[in-house]
Amino acid sequence: MWRWLAGLLPGGGRRETAVEIPDGMWRRILDDQPELAGLDAGIAERLRELAGGFLGGRPFYGGDGFLPDAAMQARIAALATLPVLELGEKWLDGIRSVVVYPDAFHVDHEEVDDAGVVHEVSDLRAGEAWEHGTLVLSWADVEAGLDPHLATSVVVHEVAHFLDGVNGAENGFPPLPKDCDRGQWTQDFQAAFDRLDAQVESGREPGIDPYAATNPAEFFAVSSEYFFRAPDELAHFDARLYAHLACFYRQDPRRRLFPAPTADGRLDSADPAGKFPPNV
Ligand code: ZN
Repeated sequence: MWRWLAGLLPGGGRRETAVEIPDGMWRRILDDQPELAGLDAGIAERLRELAGGFLGGRPFYGGDGFLPDAAMQARIAALATLPVLELGEKWLDGIRSVVVYPDAFHVDHEEVDDAGVVHEVSDLRAGEAWEHGTLVLSWADVEAGLDPHLATSVVVHEVAHFLDGVNGAENGFPPLPKDCDRGQWTQDFQAAFDRLDAQVESGREPGIDPYAATNPAEFFAVSSEYFFRAPDELAHFDARLYAHLACFYRQDPRRRLFPAPTADGRLDSADPAGKFPPNV
């Protein structure tokens, strides 16, 4: 059902050594990728190293005859490693290869209707996280993320599924650091999920993308997109949700993307000591 037109990129294959992302290429990614705004220089450099390690550790393939070039691969790597900036690259060990399609792609699967009848359906997808370790992306959807008004990020979404699955099932409950409150996480995520579900059911304007109401795994993946892309919107929808994600990811994107003015009116974005715990 999958048409693989994959071929290793020139110089591709399983590169064991980290790739050095060239200065100009990296600068462009930092400049135009909205979720990377406000990273201080040292942290941006750490992300660059992580992204280079990501590129070194796994092959990229093109689907449907598409060949993601070095700049595309570097951008995907930067976005894939942003969520593990404070967690470490080990968290991405489950991703063994990356497949990039030029556009949204069809996925055939079976669905069981209310009468128990199995149907073959074909859905259009922007990305997928395969259990055996392939991150599948539509380049058009990655590129759409250059629009700062979009709260969505297909790369963060799929990476969140991989992180969710580190402890087994993808169920919206990734392995949490010891200082995060697991019981409270479950309670608050359930409450926020129910609230979104009620908003969708009643036809009211949903607080975040209603796709999150599909199931707990999608809720975690979509709220992770908001966390990195539109943290103010997520905090507005549910401040507890934002705080839980800040505890898990060990980052505070709201502070980074929307720095509070200091007493003298300057924007204070350099706050290494306050990177964690989050101020929410
Ligand atoms: Zn998903």
